[in-house]
Amino acid sequence: MRAAGKVPCRVHRTDLSGGSELVRTPPLRRQPTLGTTNASTSSSGGRTVVLAALVALALLLVACGAGDEVAPDEDAGEPTEEVDDPDLRDDPADDGTAEDEVDGTEEDDAEGVDEEAAAPPVDPAEVGANELGVVPVVMYHQLREDGGSIYDMTEEEYRQELEWMFDNGYRPITTSQLARGDIDVPAGTKPVVLTYDDSTTTQAQLTDDGELDPTTSLGILVEIAARYDEVEPRASVYVISGSLFGGTAAGEQVLEVLHSHGMEIGNHTHTHPNLRGLAPAEVRDELATNVAVVTELVPDTEVVTLSLPLGVWPEDRSLAVSGSSDAGSYDHEGILLVGANPAPSPFHAEFDPLAIPRIRSNVDPEAELESTWWFEVIESGGSNAPYVSDGNPDTISFPAELAERLDPAHADRANPY
Ligand SMILES: [Zn+2]
Repeated sequence: MRAAGKVPCRVHRTDLSGGSELVRTPPLRRQPTLGTTNASTSSSGGRTVVLAALVALALLLVACGAGDEVAPDEDAGEPTEEVDDPDLRDDPADDGTAEDEVDGTEEDDAEGVDEEAAAPPVDPAEVGANELGVVPVVMYHQLREDGGSIYDMTEEEYRQELEWMFDNGYRPITTSQLARGDIDVPAGTKPVVLTYDDSTTTQAQLTDDGELDPTTSLGILVEIAARYDEVEPRASVYVISGSLFGGTAAGEQVLEVLHSHGMEIGNHTHTHPNLRGLAPAEVRDELATNVAVVTELVPDTEVVTLSLPLGVWPEDRSLAVSGSSDAGSYDHEGILLVGANPAPSPFHAEFDPLAIPRIRSNVDPEAELESTWWFEVIESGGSNAPYVSDGNPDTISFPAELAERLDPAHADRANPY
């Protein structure tokens, strides 16, 4: 199963769907330098020194205006300031409210109310916590008997991939959780984001009883997740609001059922155009109409993330982030690209919620830069080692030698060990 032991230190941009600018995500790799010497000793004295150095660094960066430090540094194709809304990145205080809005079921009272009881029950070193590791965001399209195009899979391949993930400690979160840094998976497990584009009938349909059809992708996800103790069938489903799961009234009803399973409904525009070819007002209308249609059908959902059709940005990238038209308004906290590497941790200095890379699903271990190939790279550790949770959404635990990767905006929650 091993892909010839190849562990790339760098992933070059590749073009997965014919667009010219689809996959320009910043390399994740940055060699740790700060604190490496000290951290190589495992004594508590060494840890103290590293911790002190980290705090000093954080203070220094804050004093110097740390907000600028998070900009990707190697890619001319990255979003410019227009898209790079500092509000989305620099405000860890947002997390509390965001959690409440999105998912009120978890540990809402852990903060402030009962600090002693909320003391970390888990030693991060014991579970190998690394909350600066990468998070795979996997992209699914259609299930087809013949395997379809490079974007598609057979049902058997799809089942195989989901089971492999869950057997190997991956636990689904949504794109909005990733964008917000609101990761609540159990200690020692690894977040993964499962995304589904285009709202086709192979992804979801309803049975006569109004249940999710168990032969569709999302029905299969629900079925397989139910076989595991700690796996919730979370997914982020990017719908074309003008063509919902077959474009029928029954297709419209699918949304509410997906929502009831805890899945996120995301924006994939109203008619799936190439946004680059549209005038600004048309871009706004495509995005705002999607939000209006979805929130009319599912009134208690929020549409806060976008998957760009074809992975193509509008000419003015800021149009993809927020705007309004006669149909209403939109305000995206996360934007998904098409390819082709794992996302950085949301606490990594190079994480940009408005340009989240995805990996195309593929069970062939030889298919470079696709999911099975990537999972082997991720599992083999090194600079692409996975995000491993410490079980406490309020702290960010990681081996001290990785401290340099931390976004200084999150220094107050850091728990190096
Ligand atoms: Zn699409």
